Amino acid sequence: MGFKGSRVQIPPFRLIGTKYSAFFNYKERVNMIDRPTCNCGIFGIVGAKDAAITTYYGLHALQHRGQEAAGIVALAENQNGKPFFNIHRAMGLVTEVFSEPDIFEKKLFGNMSIGHNRYSTTGASESEKNIQPLFVNYRMGNLAIAHNGNLSNAKELRDQLVNDGAIFQTTSDTEVILHLIARSRLTDQVEQIKEALQKVKGAYCLLILTNDKLIAARDPNGFRPMCIGKLNESFIITSETCALDINSAEYIRDVEPGEIIILDKEVLESQKPKTDWIFKEKFKKAHCIFEYIYFSRPDSRIFGSNVDKLRRKLGKVLAMKYPVVDKDGDKVIVISVPDSSNTAAIGFQAQLAKQGISSRLEIGLIRNHYIGRTFILPGQKAREIGVKIKFNTVKGVLENKTVVLVDDSIVRGTTSKQLVKLLREANPKEIHVRISSSPIISPCYYGMDFPSKEELIANKCDKDIRKIRDYLEVDSLEYLTIDEMLEAMIDHSPDDFCTACFSGIYPIPVKSGITKEIYETNYMLF
Ligand code: SF4
Repeated sequence: MGFKGSRVQIPPFRLIGTKYSAFFNYKERVNMIDRPTCNCGIFGIVGAKDAAITTYYGLHALQHRGQEAAGIVALAENQNGKPFFNIHRAMGLVTEVFSEPDIFEKKLFGNMSIGHNRYSTTGASESEKNIQPLFVNYRMGNLAIAHNGNLSNAKELRDQLVNDGAIFQTTSDTEVILHLIARSRLTDQVEQIKEALQKVKGAYCLLILTNDKLIAARDPNGFRPMCIGKLNESFIITSETCALDINSAEYIRDVEPGEIIILDKEVLESQKPKTDWIFKEKFKKAHCIFEYIYFSRPDSRIFGSNVDKLRRKLGKVLAMKYPVVDKDGDKVIVISVPDSSNTAAIGFQAQLAKQGISSRLEIGLIRNHYIGRTFILPGQKAREIGVKIKFNTVKGVLENKTVVLVDDSIVRGTTSKQLVKLLREANPKEIHVRISSSPIISPCYYGMDFPSKEELIANKCDKDIRKIRDYLEVDSLEYLTIDEMLEAMIDHSPDDFCTACFSGIYPIPVKSGITKEIYETNYMLF
């Protein structure tokens, strides 16, 4: 269901003196809201006087991509011209992590910086050591790295490095890249990075800060989005264009799959970013289709298209293939699960109207934006209360109407069931659910966190949509097929997308059984 940017925030505390002892870690919170969870957001800037402040605003706009922790590393020079890193990282939302009023003036000064919003796709979510940007000092100087994505061969590489004597400080797959760079015998840093990236596989958008440059790299398949922007004379590289907009920066172009961008003093003078390539050959594209379905903000432009446009198109195709008509000839009421399904619902209703079906787009569910640190009891009851804390129905809109609830995806189905129950309390004539993606049947190994295969409602119901419909207790349920989702990706070739979580066919081979805590069995952090 559509909960993006509105996670239930539950503090890690115990209620003393009651029979309830609730201690929710981040994973439990995610389970409670029944969503796949976004990977991370990254932002880097070169040539700005207050680089860290611009980075802070960028991270703010990218908060939906990770709400567990945030960090900024800024590059400054001491009185002798020696470069050094200013670093601030902590658990929490961007506004919580950078809440000290003079933090930018006193701590995070410098004219180059990189920042990261974290949601852990590998590495224990609770560990502060895993907060990015990670940083090291090696024979070529300082190096900080911010990573969006997930490496699919990190375990093999890590095992090899450990066997060779490497000592890991974190349980994050990103640290593997740092070790590979540090171990390179090449003398040029960009060449070292290229050599390291030729060994890793999977999804990565990287920002690497050194003593004199910012280097960005995107994996050759282009799983995750990354773009270049310009703010006066300075250059920005970030995950989504909404992070440019907040800073009134101009979008220049996407970073190409497999491309390396180098930004330094010379680039600031010439105003022409230097580019290189990880590999000589081009790879088949594998853009994450879920970025268009749910993850990215609708006001962003990613993979060369506006998210709003393609998300609307998903809704239109859904209405074209699976329209709903009121049996008595009344108006059909189309509602979304706010906020992430709003755009698909607009497209759905517009298409119904185009097909001559009497319908109206309504706000039938109201989302409470101020749930903050609400205490929620554990167990089954928690899910019901969790949904009620977050949503309420507009009864006058729904009563005695044929209602279509448009949503972007169903994961476990538990929250969807509670929402349907909530809608039923408003006495609609019928409830029809339309999903603007295919049933999710497989986990993601490229940077999204899904529950286990066994927990997914589509698998629990043997991929039988009628069984899911019966579980949800709705009058009808329809999903887009994979081909129909790809049909909505206008401006793109269907071959340009990864659809592995819907098809089980992975564009880069993965070993099953990899979890984000994979290193925890061997490496404990305290
Ligand atoms: Fe995106 Fe799904 Fe592919 Fe992961 S498996 S990259 S979520 S389409």
